[in-house]
Amino acid sequence: MVRMEYTGLPRIKHVRAFTVRGGGADYHDQGEGHWIDDHIATPMARYPEYRQSRQSFGINALGTLVVEIEAEDGTIGFAVTTGGEPACFLVERHLARFLEGRNPAEYEKIWDQMYFSTQYYGRKGLVVNAISGVDLALWDLLGKLRGEPVHALLGGAVRDELQFYATGSRPDLAKDMGFIGGKMPLHHGPAGGIEGLRKNIAELATMRERVGPDFWLMLDCWMALDVDYATRLALAANEHGLKWIEEAISPDDYWGYAALKRNVPRGMLVTTGEHEATRWGFRMLLEMDCCDILQPDVGWCGGMTELLKISALADAHGKLVVPHGSSVYSYHFVITRHNSPFAEFLMMHPASSEVVPMFHPQLIGEPVPVNGRLRASALDKPGFGVELNRDLPMHRPYAR
Ligand SMILES: [Mg+2]
Repeated sequence: MVRMEYTGLPRIKHVRAFTVRGGGADYHDQGEGHWIDDHIATPMARYPEYRQSRQSFGINALGTLVVEIEAEDGTIGFAVTTGGEPACFLVERHLARFLEGRNPAEYEKIWDQMYFSTQYYGRKGLVVNAISGVDLALWDLLGKLRGEPVHALLGGAVRDELQFYATGSRPDLAKDMGFIGGKMPLHHGPAGGIEGLRKNIAELATMRERVGPDFWLMLDCWMALDVDYATRLALAANEHGLKWIEEAISPDDYWGYAALKRNVPRGMLVTTGEHEATRWGFRMLLEMDCCDILQPDVGWCGGMTELLKISALADAHGKLVVPHGSSVYSYHFVITRHNSPFAEFLMMHPASSEVVPMFHPQLIGEPVPVNGRLRASALDKPGFGVELNRDLPMHRPYAR
């Protein structure tokens, strides 16, 4: 018998990192008059000068990061996430060494080396965003080299279609468009006092009236509250059928989340995790019983390689994983997991009144829900099934 020697796929030749401005993966980088920057409650609202607009305190300071990984045969995998110019530095000057010359199928070893080589200054935030971008570009490359969609590499679809809830300012319109629920941004936090709390409840009550008793309504609090305010909000929102309260307090306050989960009315869900990272961060949320649904962002939590570990850990704890936004990078995961029964769709139309591609204008061929659903077959293209819009002005600040 001849023993086959495994030589693997074409080696990785080159890793490149670019910045792009104007929406896309940095979906907060929008023009004036967009719902996503209209007086949304934030932890910075304690300063009146930063209360009206999140761009005023720099929510779009970073911009989009584009990572490209080219194999020796000329095949290119790519991904977009946030992180901008500082992430470009990390990718080109630090992380690229763990990929160039390597077999692209070795994503476990590559991830491990990216994470532990940066651990002394990384672990969360920007560094893990950069790692996530590289990891997603690697999965895209792997899919393209093998001629398979990423969902097939992850074990295959467990259902025929994805169903979505919509995040935006108009759950009533989302209902008409076929979504299963609508999540609104909270507009007032503790600095707005009791008057702001009443306004929050009044907005929820108005929307409940418009959508009827059964449509899911959720509130996204973007880390703006404290346990006391979040508890009072949850109790008052209960009579208006609030399905879940999302990211109510600081992601560092695991103890606060555990308290909030004990405080909310029975049946109301506590969700969080979009600003959490890695299996170790999510282990804290799980073991301290901080929430009912984990919401990792695949572009921020460590990429697909890490999301698989987070998901398995959550499954063993009986928790759902419903990733934050992130378009095709989430869809290819959600379709493969039973504990990920639906997906988020960010309404990036300025008035939340039309379905537009979430990462527009950066991706070509980005699928969008139709009647709140997406057939699994819409994802049946190699890699993540999208191409980079190369007409956009891309800047490569740390070219090698
Ligand atoms: Mg959120």
